[in-house]
Amino acid sequence: MSAPQVETSRRSRADHQPRWSTGYIEVDPKFCEACGECAEVCRSDVLGVVGFLFHKHVRVRHPEKCRGCGRCAAACPNGAIVLR
Ligand code: SF4
Ligand code: SF4
Repeated sequence: MSAPQVETSRRSRADHQPRWSTGYIEVDPKFCEACGECAEVCRSDVLGVVGFLFHKHVRVRHPEKCRGCGRCAAACPNGAIVLR
């Protein structure tokens, strides 16, 4: 009974960690200025911009949908996204 509880708790913590990669791209949040260009050009709804006041950044919302097209990396003015 205790083992599933530990597993649930680990999964819950992991779910709250921001994701910075898919199987094809990696985002470096240090360079992200939350302009939203990458989310705008992504046709697969992988990326979004989240945040509050001065704490905005891009977020990988649906990594499983990424097709590796590279449009987000090409669109980012700060080089915050690279293909893996
Ligand atoms: S590589 Fe293509 S599909 Fe994947 S997040 Fe970037 S724009 Fe979207
Ligand atoms: S395009 Fe670059 S700077 Fe703009 S939100 Fe996306 S990762 Fe951040």
